[in-house]
Amino acid sequence: MGLAGKRALVTGSTSGIGLAIARALNAAGAEVVLSGFGDADAIAALCDELNAQHIAADLSRRDGVEALMAGAGPVDVLVNNAGMQFVAPVEEFPVEKWDQIIALNLTAAFDACRLAIPHMKAAGWGRIINTASAHSLTASPYKSAYVAAKHGLAGLTKTLALELATDRITANCISPGYVWTPLVENQIPSTMAARGLTREQVINDVLLQRQPTKQFVQPEDVGAMAAFLCGDAAAQITGSNISMDGGWTAE
Ligand code: NAD
Repeated sequence: MGLAGKRALVTGSTSGIGLAIARALNAAGAEVVLSGFGDADAIAALCDELNAQHIAADLSRRDGVEALMAGAGPVDVLVNNAGMQFVAPVEEFPVEKWDQIIALNLTAAFDACRLAIPHMKAAGWGRIINTASAHSLTASPYKSAYVAAKHGLAGLTKTLALELATDRITANCISPGYVWTPLVENQIPSTMAARGLTREQVINDVLLQRQPTKQFVQPEDVGAMAAFLCGDAAAQITGSNISMDGGWTAE
């Protein structure tokens, strides 16, 4: 129970990776604040399961991030995880989608950090973990906003690490490849239909084409890494971009 007495805010924790991180931090003893959208009954059940507070705020807006941070109060662990994707050629990329992705995937992390750090400094301890992506290190076509935002998030993380190096506050990215979340699973039937492929072909030739292990990352693996980064053994890990991508970015 290494995080007993610590308060952890995980953005985008009503599903997928953020939920797995919230569960892992809760299991390590932290008091967890959930954020994100979804079915009200399902969120209420998660709050019961984790004995957690939930705050719904649109983090693609600065006033949404400010409302979240005010509602959460002082936090010792901040996980910037909420994110979205949109795929289109750059010359056809809807400008409002560009703005939304940069706002949610990058600017929200800056704002949340800016508001969380004064308490961490006063407490003399803190952990900032940003869910980046293999796309913080490498690109794919048609994902200009996502790749730009995730590269930006990796740069923000390094800067935070240097600024906070003597404050016992670490800042790191976790960069998954394809993670087996409902988001990914739900793409399979439509991709099978659109491309005339079997389920196995979609998984291996489309989704896992760039992941040498041919295995998905599991959300629980990312949760375990986040919990490790919060522990004492990770005190000297800061400014790192930790790949969990089955070898994708080793190529
Ligand atoms: P998901 O869609 O399952 O979860 C996204 C979460 O963000 C949800 O809780 C959702 O409610 C919340 N959210 C979405 N828009 C929001 C907004 N405007 N304001 C506040 N909250 C909002 O996605 P996921 O697969 O768990 O992805 C989580 C993070 O991991 C993202 O940053 C994503 O880029 C990153 N990531 C995912 C994968 C993958 O393969 N799934 C791989 C690498 C990185």
